[in-house]
Amino acid sequence: MTPQMSLLEVQNLCIHFPVKHGVFGRVRESVKAVGGVSLEVAHGETVGLVGESGCGKTTMGRAIVRLIAPTAGRILFEGEDVTSLNGEVLRARRRHFQMIFQDPFGALNPRMTVRQIIAEAIDAHGLADTEQARQTRIDSLLQVVGLDSAHGQRYPSEFSGGQRQRIGIARALAVEPKLIVCDEPVSALDVSVQAQIVNLLQDLQRDRGLAYLFISHNFAVVERVSRRVLVMYLGKIVEAGPVQAVVRTPRHPYTQALISAVPELDSVTQRKRIVLPGDAPSPISPPAGCPFHPRCPIAEARCRTDVPTLREIQPGHSVSCHLASI
Ligand code: SF4
Repeated sequence: MTPQMSLLEVQNLCIHFPVKHGVFGRVRESVKAVGGVSLEVAHGETVGLVGESGCGKTTMGRAIVRLIAPTAGRILFEGEDVTSLNGEVLRARRRHFQMIFQDPFGALNPRMTVRQIIAEAIDAHGLADTEQARQTRIDSLLQVVGLDSAHGQRYPSEFSGGQRQRIGIARALAVEPKLIVCDEPVSALDVSVQAQIVNLLQDLQRDRGLAYLFISHNFAVVERVSRRVLVMYLGKIVEAGPVQAVVRTPRHPYTQALISAVPELDSVTQRKRIVLPGDAPSPISPPAGCPFHPRCPIAEARCRTDVPTLREIQPGHSVSCHLASI
């Protein structure tokens, strides 16, 4: 029996941004935003990607939907290498992988009505043959995300944050994607509204078989929605595994600190709060050895020189730490 192909497979993705200096704009260094990340998402699965602000997770998400070009590595969608596609071919493939954003308002054209915003997505991929078919489709999408037909005549500025996120989801759904990269989709919303949007995303996944790469700094939200989770620090994956295993027995000191800071997970982990010293180092010149060593409470001498590799310590549970034992 052939193993089932992943919907999304990312292989050793690197994303560096040049930093220009002086009047001639010479490039002498680069921001290493993502440094060799691999991940897979199966059909209908939710994979969480967690880390502090600036760890590279949003850059990673934007590269996966090809909003930015990777420096190295490959992105396979249903087995097809989409890393270097462009023009018409990329536009056609992009129908299958969409993104929803932390700031839905910034992602919605303020001069277009909601109906026009959704129609634009439908038309871009020729998904309605007639005007009536298009309007029926828009009405259906509004209903699916919990809005009504009358909302379609209004502009994004007339909606609350939660309603705008619903519009962003409707626009993403308009092209019938298989994967949605959700970039901090509830971080800017009130707690009660967060739960409504998370419920909506879960209902849509159940009804439509959608897969999500769910990017968040909030472990509690990721724990609720994901089957597997990857923890990112300074552009690299430091821990990956089934979400329950990672939350209950985090093995990397960075993951332990992240989880200890989430009150909602207290009943699961019963851990004391771990406060990390300082901020994450600059991705322009990441530390030698383990990139976490300047903040790590258990660092040893070798951590300053030897780079740990991501290795499996339990079936499906991998950690990048010299001291993590099986
Ligand atoms: Fe800490 Fe060393 Fe493990 Fe890095 S390799 S997380 S510095 S103990």
